[in-house]
Amino acid sequence: MARVVVAGGAGFLGSHLVERLLDRGDQVVVLDNLVTGDVANIEGCFGRDGFTFHRVDVSDFVHVAGDVDAIMHLASPASPADFASIPIQILKVGSLGTHRLLGLAKDKGARFFLASTSEVYGDPQVHPQPESYWGHVNPIGPRGCYDEAKRFAEAMTMAYHRTHDVDIRIVRIFNTYGPRMRPEDGRVVTNFVVQALRGEELTVYGDGSQTRSFCYVDDEVEGFLRLLDSDVSGPVNIGNPGEFTVLQLAELVAEMVPTAAGIRFEPLPTDDPAQRRPDISLATDLLGWAPTVDLRDGLGRTIDWFRARLSRSG
Ligand code: UDP
Repeated sequence: MARVVVAGGAGFLGSHLVERLLDRGDQVVVLDNLVTGDVANIEGCFGRDGFTFHRVDVSDFVHVAGDVDAIMHLASPASPADFASIPIQILKVGSLGTHRLLGLAKDKGARFFLASTSEVYGDPQVHPQPESYWGHVNPIGPRGCYDEAKRFAEAMTMAYHRTHDVDIRIVRIFNTYGPRMRPEDGRVVTNFVVQALRGEELTVYGDGSQTRSFCYVDDEVEGFLRLLDSDVSGPVNIGNPGEFTVLQLAELVAEMVPTAAGIRFEPLPTDDPAQRRPDISLATDLLGWAPTVDLRDGLGRTIDWFRARLSRSG
């Protein structure tokens, strides 16, 4: 049993992680400012043994009383829509928030786990992307706030590791989907599923030939725990190597949700990566991890959840 601080624990990925930690008997302290997180995501955790929640902004100040074994930093808005609306908060939580949480890890002698991203590879010129690839990022484009914040966060994490001997883990997360994504978060899976359920057209940006690799949330969280519990510092890619064009995804959603009203093409956003697929050799070799949920299965579970969610909210 361990005592784990999860920054961003009320978010999409964070809340699934928190449940898994509680299930295995860990104590969990959630820190979240609820900018993109939602207490509804963790409503089932209140009252469970060992669970506490604090509404705080880790970019401002972090204090946790008592012993801590691990600090997991999943706090960040992560949708391109957020990059446009709250870029300064994203830069702050990736930089100041990471610095504060690393300070806490140093103080407590705790392991520090950083949720980094495939966005550190930018619009990649190497395909698929191994961890050894340094990336192709536009620092001043609309995605720069997120990409550079996460690159800074990796650099700061390595600096604390080298300078202060903090025990660290870095995961690079590829596109992940599943229940508890925000219906209006603007990302492709949520947009298509919500549009289809509402009987609207699916908005494909550009010609839809750009690719992504979609990992179901349960697989992603299993990868986090394998990395956390291992002696591997990383960075390690955790993502599903199944690669699909955005148009293929739209066609699959339209097939699975027959109320979809066809496809509408819209302009491609600036700096939208043309292709993305993780090389997961390291995760497989070092952690024995590979995804188990294929896209059709995971989409089915996600569609069911959104159908129930939308019927509740009207
Ligand atoms: N996309 C799309 N329609 C949408 C939302 C997104 O065609 O309604 C495209 C977007 O241009 C990108 C891909 O889907 O090529 C994945 O976008 P998302 O925002 O989910 O995440 P990203 O991987 O770009 O960070």
